[in-house]
Amino acid sequence: MCRCFYNSLPILHGLLAVYEVICGIIRLAIFFNNNNSNKSPNSNGNPASSNQTTMITITVVPQLPEVPQILAGFIIDWISSLIPTMMGLFIAFIFLWLGYRLLRLCRTGHHQPRTNCHLRYLIANKPIQRFLLFNCNCPCYIARPKWRFLVRFLFITISIGLRLLAIILYATAPTYNNQELFNRTQKLSWICAITFPSPILTLLLDYYHYRVWWYYVPSCDQNPFYRRYLKKHRRFIPYHLMGENRNEIQLWNEPCELQQHCLDRTLEHIMIFHFNTHTPTPRWSDVPNKDPLTTTYIGFHRTNAVAAVSIAYTDFNPSRTIPQMLGFGIYFARSSYHTQFKARRDGAVICAEILMGRVLEIENNELDNVSNTDAWHQTFDTIYYRHPTEPLRDEFCVRSNEQILKWVMYIERPFDTKVELYGLNTEFADTQCQCI
Ligand SMILES: [Zn+2]
Ligand SMILES: [Zn+2]
Repeated sequence: MCRCFYNSLPILHGLLAVYEVICGIIRLAIFFNNNNSNKSPNSNGNPASSNQTTMITITVVPQLPEVPQILAGFIIDWISSLIPTMMGLFIAFIFLWLGYRLLRLCRTGHHQPRTNCHLRYLIANKPIQRFLLFNCNCPCYIARPKWRFLVRFLFITISIGLRLLAIILYATAPTYNNQELFNRTQKLSWICAITFPSPILTLLLDYYHYRVWWYYVPSCDQNPFYRRYLKKHRRFIPYHLMGENRNEIQLWNEPCELQQHCLDRTLEHIMIFHFNTHTPTPRWSDVPNKDPLTTTYIGFHRTNAVAAVSIAYTDFNPSRTIPQMLGFGIYFARSSYHTQFKARRDGAVICAEILMGRVLEIENNELDNVSNTDAWHQTFDTIYYRHPTEPLRDEFCVRSNEQILKWVMYIERPFDTKVELYGLNTEFADTQCQCI
């Protein structure tokens, strides 16, 4: 059901825009409607009887476009209705085209089956929809769902503000004590007011879209409605956002250019803009100014999808199944890539920020002192194992889950069907002209 709702977002956006187009046409009609009741005597060939009254009404009752405040309101209203204007032009274009086709059909008399095809293509074309809705598909938004929402939020808020201004201008415009003029300005402001829910609903739809991407819930989280993750659990990152999907030659969608020199410790940045071989923190012995109370370290932990979801709700559990090379505790590696060789489970990777506390650094010959025991828990918080030949293959084991401050996780492709079900991975595949 959620999937259907997500996939029909463009249609819902379109419906809201059409609703605004209709309200906009009514406003146009009211605004430009010349007051027939006052003008008719001029044209019906009876000047003698009513010439004077006509003169009076015309001088006393100005047309709506002649009242500066209403004109200003109308212009502001029109600027705030950019999307409906575009949509209206598009609809008009389609009608014109249909009319033209129909005319040709009548003249030539033979049917052209391709017309419907073209039309359907035109209406179902995603880039055209996005263009009409001012909802562009910049590559910079692929890895930054928040930017897109912020841009949309700004755009829609401005349009809501302008429309509010227009309503106030319409409603407070001088009417020169004329009932007719008063009625029409009131009508204008009311019709403007009933379009108000439309931008607000649009904003809500955009917020929903943003939630689906940035507060992602993988398909393996079967918990139906009530989801209360731990505060430490920052987010799931859908696998199509992971670093390996960044594109070196696509502007604004490149991986982090600093690569191994990058000092950004934001967990989302590490996962989204770096490849899985990236080690965000140096070897423990190379970390400067270590302080047991404050120094944190970035570690990667691999487990299976179900266990990862349960961690999101209930935190890590120290493993006590023998054999445990560094004793009982929670194991981390320095990069996502190097978790592959040690972990016994597969399907999810967790990137965590860890408070190391009192650290004991050991090498191969000291392993016996810590293996399969929790004796070291008395004096140390973390055992850090230095790999004899490859520093990248170091690993460490922390005593308690209280040392794990926060984490983000991603579920690997075979265990998470939601990305494909919702079409998140193909959403940017049909981007035209770099942007739309
Ligand atoms: Zn763009
Ligand atoms: Zn970086």
